[in-house]
Amino acid sequence: MTTAPLRVCVYCASSEAAAPEHRAAAAELGRAIAGRGWSLVYGGGSIGLMGEVARAALAAGAHVTGVIPHRLAEREVALEAVTELIRTDTMRERKAIMDDRADAFVVLPGGIGTLEELVEILTLKQLGYHDRAIVVLDSGGYWDPLLGQLRRMVAERLAGEGLLDLFDVTTDVPATIAALASYRPVSGDGVDDSEVALEATDVPPR
Ligand code: AMP
Repeated sequence: MTTAPLRVCVYCASSEAAAPEHRAAAAELGRAIAGRGWSLVYGGGSIGLMGEVARAALAAGAHVTGVIPHRLAEREVALEAVTELIRTDTMRERKAIMDDRADAFVVLPGGIGTLEELVEILTLKQLGYHDRAIVVLDSGGYWDPLLGQLRRMVAERLAGEGLLDLFDVTTDVPATIAALASYRPVSGDGVDDSEVALEATDVPPR
């Protein structure tokens, strides 16, 4: 059972068009992270689900770290009220810092940015670069087509069976919090987090 306060990295939509149920899930997640005494790491914007999760976490007393590239600070309306706002030069640097600061990852509905972040953190876990919790909060079944695709990859043996064990899928916030709190690394390979963070930033562009 996890006892230390978790730094939870949330990947989610920047779009303002997100459905009310996804917005509600994002805000509830932010409050729940704060309620556990955990902290939030996210993309630093104030729009879309990013803004929902961050404002709710802040209002409920969580430490919130936003990480945003200079050139996106205007477009994604950097949330100046966060506890700590880190501005980066590049998107890769943003992702590396979010990765470096996180003990666990939650994925809410989002667009290709969120998808890219999920796939990268899954790929790194599959390759043994880290062994942290990844929870897909499948609000309203949003990620079901992707989950179907991942199952097909395994069925056609284009991905190993272990792929589906790399992450948890939940449908609500309480189950998400429970999955994070009870997570135990599978491999126990002793890879140290700082080593992982350094290596993760070294992953060559694909
Ligand atoms: P989206 O899901 O497309 O709304 O994007 C969600 C967040 O991910 C936004 O803050 C994007 O700026 C961010 N994002 C998109 N692509 C990347 C990337 N390659 N590295 C880091 N962040 C990204």
